[in-house]
Amino acid sequence: MKIDLHAHSNKSDGTDSPAEVVYRARRIGLDVVALTDHDLADGWAQAQAAAHAVGIRLVRGIEISTEHEGTGIHLLAYGLDPEHAPLRTELQKVLDARSARIPTILAKLAAHGVHLTEADVRAAQGDARAAGRPHIADAMVASGYVRDRRQAFDEWLGEGRPGRVTKYNLPVFDAIRLVGEAGGRSVVAHPWGRGSVRAMTPQFFAELAAAGLTGIEVDHNDHDAAARDQLRAIARDLDLVVTGSSDYHGSGKGPDFALGANLTSPGEAERLLG
Ligand code: AMP
Ligand code: ZN
Ligand code: FE
Ligand code: FE
Repeated sequence: MKIDLHAHSNKSDGTDSPAEVVYRARRIGLDVVALTDHDLADGWAQAQAAAHAVGIRLVRGIEISTEHEGTGIHLLAYGLDPEHAPLRTELQKVLDARSARIPTILAKLAAHGVHLTEADVRAAQGDARAAGRPHIADAMVASGYVRDRRQAFDEWLGEGRPGRVTKYNLPVFDAIRLVGEAGGRSVVAHPWGRGSVRAMTPQFFAELAAAGLTGIEVDHNDHDAAARDQLRAIARDLDLVVTGSSDYHGSGKGPDFALGANLTSPGEAERLLG
């Protein structure tokens, strides 16, 4: 039984359509795949139709952009009703904030000699409802400023770089509560990935668990073997579910993030999803 609980489509910042994500899952032999686009459920219907057609299970998810005391935290929510009004209102705020900061980012880049128009970003945005940094990165690639998204983030868009502009994220405790109210379960995505390494302490995980968190995404390519061991121990102490996932973004991220690159055990998936 092969289960991958974290993948993105071009409804947010992946490069495959929702159906293509599912077809690829089928092709590589997954039994279960979750579509977890950033802050929206726009791809669920298309992915569900594809999953039905090829005979694999789709898990409906959303990766919610949250934060706590200035640290960004991605919260994977599964099995929730995306129409739950209070949650939908909050997700729309995040999506609006993501798109609204594009002109500011473009102005900062222009001040450093990188000239892109909003039309360039819209072209890169394609089927996605909101434009984010990955689409700016794609526009930079298309205009020849950088090789790939990674270089765009490393040199221009990431933490401490010239084009960095913060945006509104949902307070993480509010997000966990709203996901619960919407009938879903939450899992912290790649907690020790990128800059957030060790900002999230065992004590903080305990507070999240007390607030209703269900699991920790332990097996993820942003985590080395030592980080995985430590996160697994924290999950065990707090009786949290351990997941493993690829965070597939199509050709938007490297081969380390290939669909199926990390998997969740059937037992843990059962605990999470019932
Ligand atoms: P935004 O929500 O517009 O700030 O964009 C954040 C998204 O960009 C994240 O959810 C990731 O999917 C992607 N991202 C962040 N850092 C990187 C990176 N270093 N390389 C590639 N993609 C990244
Ligand atoms: Zn993403
Ligand atoms: Fe993430
Ligand atoms: Fe993700």
